[in-house]
Amino acid sequence: MATVVFFHAHPDDEALSTAGTMAALSASGHRVILLVATRGEEGEPVPGVLREGELLGERRTEELIKSANLLGVERVEFLDYRDSGMMDSPTTSNPECFWKADLEEAVSRLDQLLQGETVDLLVIYDPNGGYGHPDHIQVHRVGTLWSDQIGIEEIRWTTLNRDAIKKTIELAMRETPDTGLAGVGEDLEERKKRAEEGSFGSAESEITHAIDVSDFIDKKKDSISAHQSQIDEDSFFLKISDEQFSAVFGTEWFINPKETRKDNEPFKANLFN
Ligand SMILES: [Zn+2]
Repeated sequence: MATVVFFHAHPDDEALSTAGTMAALSASGHRVILLVATRGEEGEPVPGVLREGELLGERRTEELIKSANLLGVERVEFLDYRDSGMMDSPTTSNPECFWKADLEEAVSRLDQLLQGETVDLLVIYDPNGGYGHPDHIQVHRVGTLWSDQIGIEEIRWTTLNRDAIKKTIELAMRETPDTGLAGVGEDLEERKKRAEEGSFGSAESEITHAIDVSDFIDKKKDSISAHQSQIDEDSFFLKISDEQFSAVFGTEWFINPKETRKDNEPFKANLFN
C-alpha cells in the first residue's frame, strides 16, 4: 500500500479539488496524508457562522479535521504559515504569510513534519495554483522543491478542466430557469468568463489523468459541507441537484508533469499510472 501526500493551501481546498480521490485511495487501503500550508485566516466567513470570539483560523482548522476524518485521511499536518489572502491585497506583504516564505525554510518545515514517512506520491497544484492564488502558487513551488530534494518519484498536479467546466456552465445556464438556480446566474457568468480567458485550470489537452470519483460523491459533498464557514448552505456547490453535482464534481483532473497525452489517447484512470 502506498503513502500519498496531498499538499493544499487552505482548509476547504482538499474538499473542492481532491476529496473524491482522497476518499477512494483511503478506501482501497492507502495511507493518505493531508498537509495544509495555512489555516485560511484571510478567508471570508459566511455571515453569522462564527461563534462569539471565535477566530476564523481556529474554526477552519476544526472544519478541516472534520472533512479529513470523513475522507479517511490518516494524518493531518499544518505548515502553519499565515494565509496570504488574494494576490493584490496588503496581506500578501505580511512577513508571516506563506507567499513571503523562504522556499528552503518551508521545505525544512515539511521535512521535519513528515520525517519517517516514505512518500510514494505527492499531489500539489499546477504552476498557476489552479486560479492564481498566491498560496496555491507557493504550494506548487514548495512542493516541487521538496520532491526534488527528497526524491519523490511520482508527482501529480491537481487542476481543473477548463474546457469541461465551460461546457458544464453553459449547460447549467441554459437550465437555470428550470432548476431553481436563478440566484447563481451571475456567478456562472463570471466563472464562464474566467474559463474563456483561460485564467484558471488547464486546457483539456494538458491533462493526463481523469479520476472517476462518482462512487465517493457523497463523501465529497459531506467534505464540502464540513466547511460551513466558507461554503454557504445556499451556495451553487450545495444547491445543485445530486445529478448536477456529480456532473461537476464526479471527475477529478490531474497532470503528471513528466508525461504528455497524445491527442486521441484516453485519460489515465488510475492516479498511480
Ligand atoms: Zn485555497
